[in-house]
Amino acid sequence: MSDPRILILGAPGAGKGTQSVKIADEFGVAHVTTGDALRANKDMDISDLGLAYDTPRAYMDRGELVPDAVVNAIVEEALSQTDGFILDGYPRNMDQAEELDEMTELDVVLALDVSEGELVDRLTGRRVCAECGSNYHVDFDPPDESGICDACGGQLIQRDDDTEETVKERLRVYRENTKPVIEYYDDRGTLVRVNGERPPEDVFDEVEETIESVR
Ligand code: AMP
Repeated sequence: MSDPRILILGAPGAGKGTQSVKIADEFGVAHVTTGDALRANKDMDISDLGLAYDTPRAYMDRGELVPDAVVNAIVEEALSQTDGFILDGYPRNMDQAEELDEMTELDVVLALDVSEGELVDRLTGRRVCAECGSNYHVDFDPPDESGICDACGGQLIQRDDDTEETVKERLRVYRENTKPVIEYYDDRGTLVRVNGERPPEDVFDEVEETIESVR
């Protein structure tokens, strides 16, 4: 196979970002992530679309999904520029899944399984370097010096949508909109479930094996 086209699904906090970075590195594919793309364009003016709010930020800070028209365009543009990819954070509802079917075929669909209690702990304790984007956790993976990034010395911050209230809303949105997407791929017989409640290196061993098995 040429460069693999991989989709990774899972709840917020399941470890999709962490695994995607490793996959992109190991298999030399592009990391296409709607969350990062939207964070980099949070204040983009989308008022001409006639939607409820005028910027992605307004949706993101409430834990809601950014409208499909915005997200579909980001993914379509990104996929048109690459052969292999690891797609992370999309599709998050059934309309997006159908849209993706029109855009490309996938070689592997992975789903990271993590229990809800663990997701809340992971997300509310997550801290991110404002400079380089490195991830930490106040209990599970603290930096050497509190509030300071080990990698670059930058300030560690909590993402606006990692507060307890917004995390609960993101998980509700996940249950309602994204779980059906996982069932959609499961029904097709293309889904590989991976236990995400293990150290990231152990999860990656299984992820790597799964991708290798289809190459
Ligand atoms: P993430 O970093 O993937 O958890 O995404 C952060 C936020 O960006 C989400 O809570 C949504 O508000 C928005 N977002 C990311 N991906 C999508 C998507 N595929 N569809 C709609 N909204 C998205």
